Amino acid sequence: MKALKSKIVQQGKVLSDTVLKVDSFLNHQIDATLMKEIGEVFASRFKKDNITKIVTLESSGIAPAVMTGLVLHVPVVFARKKKSLTLSENLLTANVYSYTKEETNTISVSRDFIKPEDNVLIMDDFLANGQALLGLLEIVERAGASIAGAGIVIEKGFQSGGELVRSRGIRVESLATIASLQNGTVTFKEDDK
Ligand code: 5GP
Repeated sequence: MKALKSKIVQQGKVLSDTVLKVDSFLNHQIDATLMKEIGEVFASRFKKDNITKIVTLESSGIAPAVMTGLVLHVPVVFARKKKSLTLSENLLTANVYSYTKEETNTISVSRDFIKPEDNVLIMDDFLANGQALLGLLEIVERAGASIAGAGIVIEKGFQSGGELVRSRGIRVESLATIASLQNGTVTFKEDDK
């Protein structure tokens, strides 16, 4: 997606050979206009898939997921990373290890919001080693729902997550795939749409 890739080049900060900071438009401040466009692109890629629900992870997955849900006219559920006083029963949970934070979080969603008849689009901001996506897949599988695929804003193609998730037969649509962050420069995968 051209506008996203331009934004990454203009405003993304390469923190190391593996980490990209995009706080000015995706992870802290949100560029609402870009996010609207992102929602439209995801919606067009999954418009024929009879999606009934979008499932994402708080907090950075919420903005692109809501914009996509708006176009597809489906509800968006976000998994929580912390226990909530009002969310303590009837939970679907999965453990997610974060390589960046070096910690394991138990993510959870209420059973009330994912049903066996749902056809789910899973979304997140980044795909790196795939742990967050696998955790979301586990939750949706536990609910007995179908998985239509995954929508990722930025995939780091040099890490193992994309291959791991696709090898399970899951369709993964990424709007920008990064081939390398070496020497402080963002290089995109050439066949990127
Ligand atoms: P994974 O579970 O695929 O290893 O990592 C995905 C999660 O880690 C995403 O939800 C995202 O929040 C975070 N993440 C992974 N790599 C990056 C990165 O390069 N930059 C930012 N800002 N977040 C990342």
